[in-house]
Amino acid sequence: MTTLKSPSKFRIAIVGAGLGGLLFALFLQKHAEDIEVDIYESAHELTELGAGVAMWPRVWELIKYLGLEEELLEISGSSRAGAPNFVFEKADEAQSVYIHTFPAPAQTFHRADLQKLLAKHLRAYDRIQYAKRLASYTEPASESDPIVLKFRDGTEATCDVLVGCDGIKSAVRRTMYTRMADEAEANGQAEEATRLRAMNDPIWSGCVAYRGLIPAGQLENSDRKEALVPRIVIGKHKNVVIYPISGGEIVNVVAFVETPGGRGTHYSGPWVSTSTTEEVAQQFSGWAPIIRTLVNSWTNPTVWAIHTAAELPTFVKGRVVLLGDAAHAMTPHQGSGAGQAFEDGLILSSLLAHPSVNLKTISRALKIYDDVRRPFAQNIQRVSDLTGSMYHLHEMGWEKVSAEESMAGQYPPELLSAWGQRMSELLVWVSEGDSLKAREQVVSLLESTLA
Ligand SMILES: Cc1cc2nc3c(=O)[nH]c(=O)nc-3n(C[C@H](O)[C@H](O)[C@H](O)COP(=O)(O)OP(=O)(O)OC[C@H]3O[C@@H](n4cnc5c(N)ncnc54)[C@H](O)[C@@H]3O)c2cc1C
Repeated sequence: MTTLKSPSKFRIAIVGAGLGGLLFALFLQKHAEDIEVDIYESAHELTELGAGVAMWPRVWELIKYLGLEEELLEISGSSRAGAPNFVFEKADEAQSVYIHTFPAPAQTFHRADLQKLLAKHLRAYDRIQYAKRLASYTEPASESDPIVLKFRDGTEATCDVLVGCDGIKSAVRRTMYTRMADEAEANGQAEEATRLRAMNDPIWSGCVAYRGLIPAGQLENSDRKEALVPRIVIGKHKNVVIYPISGGEIVNVVAFVETPGGRGTHYSGPWVSTSTTEEVAQQFSGWAPIIRTLVNSWTNPTVWAIHTAAELPTFVKGRVVLLGDAAHAMTPHQGSGAGQAFEDGLILSSLLAHPSVNLKTISRALKIYDDVRRPFAQNIQRVSDLTGSMYHLHEMGWEKVSAEESMAGQYPPELLSAWGQRMSELLVWVSEGDSLKAREQVVSLLESTLA
């Protein structure tokens, strides 16, 4: 018995129920009544890590579009009075130096609150199938054959369209690019095969991030007041992002430390491990008082090696599509990885839901997704890297200032104002709410392509 309102035109398998996969499922639900969805997640339950996530106006617009704004503000305890603005400071010296306040506000949430809400809004029949770790898939032999999904537990499932939302170590991407490399090899293109195989490997950004949550009530009054102002503080080779979540009850802190020359080298340790307060405190000794207070208040910091995905030559092969970190994992310096996954979901669902798209015409819809989303998201990958380089004072003349000079406040003051100006330019796109306009444009493009 079908549970859809209309007969199904095709069946989509979403692999991965992270923020990207869940939002994509919700967009499909909003846009299509004739698409069946199965969601496969490797974890035994939804367990978003204990950390915050920020959403710029461009992304918040999508939450509103899905009608989730009120409920999200309710469960997160966030202010309805308006989201706060991030303050930029230089803090690798005895006292923080104010640079500027970014004009666009950001909504900040506990990831678990967000994920719970998204999962709650899935249709009853789109429920997630847990403990299903995809190992690989088999491509269909013909237009009408299904794709066969193979799971690590030995079971199989089928679908018409496979959307890999399985994060930076994506099994969907690995299968897709291994197949493309094998095909290149079979055609005698050995160099191309090597290039394609390399697309499977995440790239170490040269940075680690210490992450942790601090109960605001644990801080002295004056420190608490300061810690509840969202801020991005910069310094030579390091920066810290601080913002309140859960209605100001928790302070989310992420402290980035760069290994000079580390970018693109192999990171030999585990990607996520536990750290100690002493280790983080040592990294930030000599920084402004609020930073030292916060890093000393951490009880169980974790340390993450920040990796990115290579710039892929395509997000699509046949009826298999990559979305979110599986397609374009980026450094977190623009706070935009999840936002870009949401934009992928908006565009892909709009194309697939179009009444003219069926198994005969789907290749044209997927080509538009790749043509539109890949250049956009890959540009944000590059801008995120540049932003990290700005935060760590390697750009705009700062490269001539040593760590010692930076910490001693020995630098021309005009370097700071030029830095602030450039940073505003790099972030301006996040305040532009034009992703819904992009949706209208791709639908028109699809209609003219299929006319
Ligand atoms: C320190 C840090 C701070 C960040 N801050 C922000 C921010 O403020 N704003 C923002 O927009 N972005 C931020 N990001 C980026 C953001 O977290 C990611 O871009 C986003 O979570 C990607 O979502 P995703 O669903 O594509 O992938 P993931 O969140 O990685 O989800 C993938 C899902 O797939 C599942 N899975 C994996 N493999 C398989 C398999 N083989 N079979 C089945 N299931 C599988 C996983 O269990 C997981 O549930 C930050 C990132 C970091 C590291």
